[in-house]
Amino acid sequence: SAGSGDLPPDIWEKVKNHPCYSEEAHHHFARMHVAVAPACNIQCNYCNRKYDCANESRPGVVSERLTPEQAAKKVVAVASTIPQMTVLGIAGPGDPLANPAKTFKTFELISKTAPDIKLCLSTNGLALPEHIDTIAKYNVDHVTITINMVDPEVGAKIYPWIFYNHKRIEGVEAARILSEHQLRGLEMLTERGILCKVNSVMIPGINDQHLVEVNKAVKSRGAFLHNIMPLISAPEHGTVFGLNGQRGPSAQELKALQDACEGEMNMMRHCRQCRADAVGLLGEDRSAEFTTDKIMDMEVNYDI
Ligand code: SF4
Ligand code: SF4
Repeated sequence: SAGSGDLPPDIWEKVKNHPCYSEEAHHHFARMHVAVAPACNIQCNYCNRKYDCANESRPGVVSERLTPEQAAKKVVAVASTIPQMTVLGIAGPGDPLANPAKTFKTFELISKTAPDIKLCLSTNGLALPEHIDTIAKYNVDHVTITINMVDPEVGAKIYPWIFYNHKRIEGVEAARILSEHQLRGLEMLTERGILCKVNSVMIPGINDQHLVEVNKAVKSRGAFLHNIMPLISAPEHGTVFGLNGQRGPSAQELKALQDACEGEMNMMRHCRQCRADAVGLLGEDRSAEFTTDKIMDMEVNYDI
């Protein structure tokens, strides 16, 4: 099915053991996220900052924030308890690249203590171009960029502002800069052979028709998967659109859009929109077994 065996062979070789990219692997290999990145450099209309980043994570969840040292210890603790642990991702609770010192310190520690674990990160892409070399230096295996538009006029309805060059920038100009950085960052990563997945949040009446164009733009720049996720619009999730009466798509609308894009490239349909501190196989969440107080009490062979 889509997102697994129909990928080109060279890419399939790289992702077949990755629980998020292979529907087969997600029964056998585990992943974890560590929430080391609290700040964000943009505002998405559907995000409430009380909760984890709504681009890669399940809305309405507050993950336990860790320091890079706590995160590295947690990775070793989890890997010694769950031997199928193959992938470590940083996806929030804000934007990993808006917290570069914390994100890269975490990667540095983990590459020393658990060199076999694959690293990944998710970002809104604003700060991507300036961090490409560091991402390559830490051997980051794959990057997810959330791209909701390639037209700044559409973008202005999704992003009220960005924070860039020490300034808050609003409106169409903000969306233009964001889009330029996202697409340039995507090109720079794929040129270096770093796998890139694109996430898009489908927002009815705002970008639903436009996502077919986004699909073409990201495919032509080398993204290997496009993951279209529904806006989860519910006041209890704190989505701002939700509070304004913006609805999410129906299952049929989501499927129709995914089908419209299917001929264009591989679509990912089994993403679970995990928590920023998810632990375990994809269908399960063992994060409660690995809270900071429990990890700090665990006897793990951890020495940096
Ligand atoms: Fe929220 Fe993530 Fe958007 Fe930042 S990038 S505003 S954390 S959804
Ligand atoms: Fe994988 Fe999606 Fe969960 Fe990330 S949010 S770990 S891509 S299933």
